[in-house]
Amino acid sequence: MESAKEIWERVLGELQLQVSRANYITWLKNSYGVDCRENIFTVGVPNAFIAEWLTKRLHSLVRKTLAQLLGRDIDVQFITHYQEPKQKGSLVFANQTDGGTSTKTRLHNFNPKYTFDDFIVGDCNRLAYAAATEVAENPGHAYNPLLLYSSTGQGKTHLLHAIGHRAMDNGLQVIYISAEQFTNEFVLAIKHGQINDFFSKFKSIHILLFDDMQFINDKKQTRQCFFQIFNELYDNNCQIVIATDRHPKDMLLLSNKLKSRLECGLITPIQPPDFETRLSIVRANAKELMVRSSDEMLCLLAEQITDNVRRLEGALIYLTAQAKLTGMELNPQTINRLLTSTANKQDKELIIQAVAAYFSLSIEELAGRNRDRKTSLARQIAMFLMREEGNYSLTEIGKALGDRNHATVVYGCKKIATEMSVNDKLCRRISELKGKIHPSEASTKEC
Ligand code: ADP
Ligand code: MG
Repeated sequence: MESAKEIWERVLGELQLQVSRANYITWLKNSYGVDCRENIFTVGVPNAFIAEWLTKRLHSLVRKTLAQLLGRDIDVQFITHYQEPKQKGSLVFANQTDGGTSTKTRLHNFNPKYTFDDFIVGDCNRLAYAAATEVAENPGHAYNPLLLYSSTGQGKTHLLHAIGHRAMDNGLQVIYISAEQFTNEFVLAIKHGQINDFFSKFKSIHILLFDDMQFINDKKQTRQCFFQIFNELYDNNCQIVIATDRHPKDMLLLSNKLKSRLECGLITPIQPPDFETRLSIVRANAKELMVRSSDEMLCLLAEQITDNVRRLEGALIYLTAQAKLTGMELNPQTINRLLTSTANKQDKELIIQAVAAYFSLSIEELAGRNRDRKTSLARQIAMFLMREEGNYSLTEIGKALGDRNHATVVYGCKKIATEMSVNDKLCRRISELKGKIHPSEASTKEC
């Protein structure tokens, strides 16, 4: 019989698909199954605050998911039952003591693929790479704060994680937090009168890695809170590394005080990769994915996709999936055609219709509030396809799918892109859907 721990791990797998990444990390990630009785399932969480939040906000979703997995109705309770999480290779943690009365452990699971060794250096990112390695080795000394900025998909998050890995190897305490997650935690801390606890999380760390800072640009209170934490850390010689999609001078709402603090450090852009860098990246990807590919194909890819490394990676996966699933031979003509087709704008409605039909959902359901597994997956696939196939903006995609916000769309697209590299079934589904969106191409065997 499955233990409570095993059952809960399966439940967490399902819940990951149904709640936002920030909520998953903040509230669910460190929970575990404690006990499974006839009528009640007990979940242990690190503190009473989390137990209360889960009881208020996620009780019915968790109960439903659990019932689906067990095939029977069962209630669920969250209890404070702290267990030191086991440290494994890629888990980075920062321990902070709160006036000696309590110890909180914050875990972060850095992406094992986002290391310095896996980062391809070219003229476009040399300075950012050098600065990132320097602050990882000598935090708080050379460039503080370090701010990396670029358009999306140029390796900012990769470098933040790489700093985290290196700092972890050196035994340092690190917090990686996205601005969205920071905002969520801050808002909840205010609501529950736990603001001191929130601030104390950031005490006694060596490095703060703050991702997607643009997210707080228009959030006044969060900006003020960040500024306060920033100042305290800075005064204590803690290294601060910030990633953002634009230069601080273009974040109009940021206070001049914070801007001038940021300017005291190093602000470094990452440019879109040049041809040589793109080719090296795509070669490294092909090797990692164990894709059999000619150098001609890789050169074509690197020539045609110029703006975004994420798209480059996606295109390689797409082409190899097409070749595998349709038996199409990848030659310069077919590659050109496939790549051109992905670059063309597609009708949003067409994508939504195709995805809804594929998952036997109505368009209203796809754009609705239901977050069961099938609907959530279908919705995330629709987001991904609109982004990849139609090149629609995040706002347009959010609007087309029931007025969802920017962060939800980013999360959905990322989730599918990541999952595709390890999940053949998903690749097949996406490829079938693309065939439906471009029917003429799917049926053409040769150019
Ligand atoms: P950003 O945070 O700037 O939007 P990411 O760090 O998420 O971009 O990068 C998108 C994808 O491209 C990731 O899979 C990342 O590993 C990869 N990537 C970006 N730049 C490089 C690079 N120079 N070398 C290797 N991989 C890269
Ligand atoms: Mg990023």
